[in-house]
Formats: sequence, structure tokens, C-alpha cells
Amino acid sequence: MSEQPTAARPVFRFAPSPNGFLHLGHAASALINQRMARASGGRLLLRIEDIDTGRTRDEFVEAIGEDLAWLGVTFDEEPLRQSRHLPDYQKAADRLDALGLVYPCFAARAEILAAAHETGLRLDPDGAPVYPGLHRGLDPKEAERRKAGGEPYAMRLDMARAVALARERAGHAMSEQQLSWREMDAAGQVEMVFADPLAWGDIVLQRKDVPTSYHLSVVVDDARQGVTHVVRGKDLIHATAIHRLLQVLLDLPEPVYHHHDLVLDGNGLKLSKSDSATSLRSLREAGWTRGDVMAKLGFHDVA
Ligand code: GLU
Repeated sequence: MSEQPTAARPVFRFAPSPNGFLHLGHAASALINQRMARASGGRLLLRIEDIDTGRTRDEFVEAIGEDLAWLGVTFDEEPLRQSRHLPDYQKAADRLDALGLVYPCFAARAEILAAAHETGLRLDPDGAPVYPGLHRGLDPKEAERRKAGGEPYAMRLDMARAVALARERAGHAMSEQQLSWREMDAAGQVEMVFADPLAWGDIVLQRKDVPTSYHLSVVVDDARQGVTHVVRGKDLIHATAIHRLLQVLLDLPEPVYHHHDLVLDGNGLKLSKSDSATSLRSLREAGWTRGDVMAKLGFHDVA
């Protein structure tokens, strides 16, 4: 069989954050991506999401490479490291700024929490308090004065305006003027899912310590890497609403999404990086083979 031309081949990606060792949940995600890429004649790329400078460690970046090699997951290009592309995220943020959709927020965490409680606590899909709009509408002169005084600030997306603009722009292409994304199930059936970015409130687009955020980087890089299929855990399904919104506003292509089941621990909870017992590293040290991991995760075929 001849190879499909690169442009027509699906592109998948595995995008871990190097702030801990990979665990069984990551293994499942990487193996599912690899299986789907191979089944569709597609390519698989690795992206190291290392914008969290406080928590990223080189040791973890190295371990990701070793653990994936041990697992038999291979990639078609050199990994992309987000920390090397900060100017690109800044450019994307500038575009949103030029559309009048972002504003600086100087408030400290505690101040935001207190205000959120005062104004009636609303929780986002992750269960965190929604930003109560503290510095939306701050006098631009005051903002400039505070910036000039060296006060740290985050840049937030004015969600109501962003959604209104996205609907206006892409209205005809969206059913009933709604934002939606294409979700593929495990059997490969695709359906439209209603996206509700308003549920997140004014998210941080650029953090105080780094000129980007998970949401901004992920959409810029999925586009940069030509990702056609975003395959990741169900814990990120609600974030897709934000990603779809940013793609519309930044004129980025729309991938198909598949959010797979999570690997749960004995108590039915999501695995966490702080629980070293399920890290691939400790399982390997305890004598597990790649085959043991695959069997544990229910992979009966060669991924
Ligand atoms: N870096 C994210 C994580 O490790 C995954 C991002 C994504 O797949 O969109 O949870």
C-alpha cells in the first residue's frame, strides 16, 4: 500500500505536562493515540507542555521520553516544547487584545476568592470558583498606572464579548448560532457537541508569571502541528468549549475530538501525579513489563 500524502494523513498528538512522572492514565492516552494513528494511517506527534515554569523539571521531561520508549510509543517528529515558543502565544494573545477581548487583572488569588464568595459563588466545570469580574472594566488609565508601577497582572478573556463575537463571526457555520465541536466516540461515530464557554467565566489567557496559559498554548500548537484529531482524557472535555471558542476567534482549523475514559484508582478516583504507586517508573521498577501495562489497560492488540 502506498503512503498517503502527508497533508491528507490524520495527525494525532500526545501532550503531557512534565510536572511529574507519567502514570497508567498517561500510558492509556498515549497508547490510544498510537492505536488510532496507526489504524488511520496517520502520524503521532509529541508535545511537551512545559509552560508551568514553577513545576516543570528537566528530570520529568527526560523521564517522559524514557517511559514512552519503554511503552513502545513512537513519534513521527521531534517533540515540540512549548516553553520555546512563548512569542507565538504572545502573538495570539495580541490578536485577541486587538479585538478588544482581553483585559489585565491585577487581583491576587485571595482577593478573587473573597469577591467570588461575596457575589454569590458560581463554580466552573472543574469545580473552581468562576472569576467574579473584579477588574473587568477597570479604568484603562488606572491599569496603565499599575502596570507602570510594576504590579504583576494576568490577562483575562472577556468571555461574554468573546462568545458574542465568535457567534457573530461563525454564525452561519454553526447550528442555531451555537458554538459546537465534533466529538468522535470509541466506535468512530462523530456527533456535534454543544460548547458552553460561558460556564468558565473570564479565564486567564496569560498568567502573571508566563505570557500564556494551557488554553491559549493548546490551540496555537494544535494548529501549528497540524493536529486533526485531539484524543485526550474525559477530564478535559469541558475545556474543549474554550478551545473551540479560541479557534474561531483566531481563525484556526477545527480538529475532531475524542475524549476517552479515564483510568481510575481503586476508589474510583482519577489517577494523580502525586500518587507514585501507578507511575510507569515505579511499576517498571517493581518488575512490570510493557505487556503487563497493556493487559492492565485492556489493550489486547499491539497498540
Ligand atoms: N498537558 C495536558 C495534561 O497533561 C494535556 C493537554 C491536552 O491533551 O490537551 O493534562
